[in-house]
Amino acid sequence: MSRIAVYPGSFDPPTNGHCDIIKRSSKLFDCVIVTVAVNPAKKHFFSVDERVDMLQEIVSEYKNIEVDQFDGLLVEYAEKKGAVSIIRGLRALSDFEYEFELALMNRHLNSSVDTIFMMTDEHYSFIRSSLVREVARLGGDISDKVPRVVEKYLKERFF
Ligand code: ADP
Repeated sequence: MSRIAVYPGSFDPPTNGHCDIIKRSSKLFDCVIVTVAVNPAKKHFFSVDERVDMLQEIVSEYKNIEVDQFDGLLVEYAEKKGAVSIIRGLRALSDFEYEFELALMNRHLNSSVDTIFMMTDEHYSFIRSSLVREVARLGGDISDKVPRVVEKYLKERFF
């Protein structure tokens, strides 16, 4: 039986922190589905299609990683995909409360899908998508914070 995990997020845009979680989780599961949460109520910088395109390019080097998008309840999506785990990343303590609530709620909704937390790498603990967008907007160097494809998308958008 193959072990499938989903890694959900906004990925607006994907950063090297996300990539690190993707890489590490690819070693733990037979298949990882990196999936963009579609939330029409939330305003995003990049469209869902753009985020999916960037992720697709990022994961192209891995054989066991797919990119997808979903709306509605994450646990329902995960179950439909046959996933046994939801992967989430933890950076600072500030992530903990929100992630803890989310994980408990998801377990309440479906106890057969367990959330797995992966601690950020020390190099990426301060990287978050919104900060990367802000620095890029102001013309700062973000080349060591995001994959090449994301840098290209940000440059095209801002300059
Ligand atoms: P969301 O809006 O669902 O939090 P994000 O794209 O911001 O979406 O993050 C998706 C997941 O990746 C979250 O679990 C988040 O904590 C994790 N993550 C984001 N940046 C990093 C990072 N630098 N290191 C480790 N995990 C991260």
